This record gives sequence, C-alpha cells and structure tokens, in this order.
Amino acid sequence: MKIGIVGAAGRMGRMLIAAVEAADGAELAGGTEAANHPEMGRDLGELAGLEAAGVVLSADPHALFEAADAIIDFTVPTATAAHAVMAAETGTVLVVGTTGMDDEQQNAVTAAGQKAPVIQAANFSVGVNLLLGLVEKAASVLPDTYDIEVLDMHHHHKVDAPSGTALALGEAAAAGRDVALDDVACKARDGIIGARPKGEIGFATLRGGDVVGDHTVMYAGPGERVEITHKASSREVFAGGAVRAAIWGCSQKPGLYSMKDVLGF
Ligand code: NAD
Repeated sequence: MKIGIVGAAGRMGRMLIAAVEAADGAELAGGTEAANHPEMGRDLGELAGLEAAGVVLSADPHALFEAADAIIDFTVPTATAAHAVMAAETGTVLVVGTTGMDDEQQNAVTAAGQKAPVIQAANFSVGVNLLLGLVEKAASVLPDTYDIEVLDMHHHHKVDAPSGTALALGEAAAAGRDVALDDVACKARDGIIGARPKGEIGFATLRGGDVVGDHTVMYAGPGERVEITHKASSREVFAGGAVRAAIWGCSQKPGLYSMKDVLGF
C-alpha cells in the first residue's frame, strides 16, 4: 500500500514518514511541501532522521495523489481544502489531521467524502478517542448542576485555539447533554462577564513550551469535581493512528469517517 505525506517537512509530517516506514505492508509513495520550502528536494528518510528512503520532497501534490493509494494530511487549512478537491478527483483515500478549518474549508473535506474514503479526526490517538466516549457518558450521567469546562495546553507554535481536540471533547460533552455545542459554548472570557450561565460549556487555552497536547474535561459540581485528563507525550501516537487510518481507509467505500470508525468504538 503506497502512502503519501503532504506537509512532509512539518512536525507531524516527519513523524508520519517514520510511521509509514515502520508500518507492515505500507510503503512511502512520496511527500510534498509548500513550493518555497527550504527542504525541497531533500530525501524523505533523511528528513525524518532515518536512512535515505530514495524518495524526495516535492511541490507536486497532483502527481502524489495519482501515485498513492492514500494521502495523510497534517498541514494548514488552505492546503487541506485544496488536497480534498484532489482526493475527490482521484478517489484517493485522504486522512485529515489538520485542525482550525473554517466552514468553507470543512465543506471541501466533507464533499470529498462523496468521492473518496476520507478519515478526519481532531486527534488520532487511541487514548483521546476513548476519552471522547467517556466524556459523553459522564455528561449524560451528571446533571447540569455540574459545570463543564474543557482545558487544553499545547506548545507555543500552535496557531489555533481552542485546540481541535478540545472542541471535539466539547462536542462530545454537548452530545451527552443533548444540546448543540454552538448554543452553549464559551470559548474565551475576559473582564466583567457576570456569573457563569447554567449549562455553559467553557473552554480555556494554555500555550507554552514544547507540550505535545494535554486535555482535561472538568465537571465542577456541588461538593465535588470530576476531571478526565489525557496527556500526549509523543507525536508518535497521532502518526501511528493516522497510518492505521490510511491502511483501514484503503478497504472502505467513499464516505466521511472518524477515528472511532477505524478503531471500531
Ligand atoms: P507544522 O507547522 O509543523 O507542519 C505543517 C506543515 O504543512 C509545514 O511544514 C508547512 O510548510 C506545510 N504546508 C503548508 N502549506 C502546504 C502546502 N500547500 N502543501 C504542503 N505542505 C504545506 O504543524 P504540525 O504541528 O505538524 O501540525 C499540523 C496540523 O496538524 C495542525 O493543524 C495541528 O493542529 C494538526 N495536528 C493534528 C493532530 C491530530 O491527531 N489530528 C495531531 C497533531 C497536530
């Protein structure tokens, strides 16, 4: 199975190269970057700190979509929307890890699911996907006297906030309460904002250092507080999950799938 990595010189891209090289039955089809990237032409194996792979970094995603069985995309929203159009044209499996997309960019990914198997997740770790189920369950069991707050901390390079995973956890909590997240979410607080509205799902964002990704969902009730936490200490958990999703996608019909589908949760 030939897997291509778009954004191959990024933090996740380099981990994904190594994860494809380590996976049974998978081979590296190639990797792309934005046209002006300084590593253009570099061997992908060397880029990931491994032995030379004999495939170099290119700026031609169209050729990669033609050559690969599956493409893994952890890039930026504008690039992911363009890649989604290519997946729809070629029918190539697309694994989307990019977060922070606006409605138009998300629509391009959703539309690609009509023509190709598309697996999209804000977080490809097994642990966070387990957490999503636990958070929904806790929100359905605890009454709305338990205030729900979602906290994320990430490294100082991260550009979107709250994190895609924090928003997915908020969606899971909202689903547990049978409400729409958009109707109850408070994504930032500043100044004299008044008392906390009942039923609100609040978000708090911390950024700093080299933190790979910490998430906590709190249920702060009368006399007690329940906290469910996940801490990622290596990007390998996301890369391994994304490669697993790519391999799984190759035996699926067109559709928009989640990591829960891949894991059979
Ligand atoms: P990064 O900035 O290190 O990497 C992104 C790469 O995409 C960069 O190398 C950039 O040059 C490249 N890029 C930009 N435009 C491109 C284009 N047109 N074609 C090809 N490549 C292009 O960021 P990162 O930390 O690797 O994260 C990337 C994305 O993945 C972010 O949205 C992040 O939130 C998300 N992420 C998701 C998960 C998950 O499990 N879903 C886990 C970690 C990160």
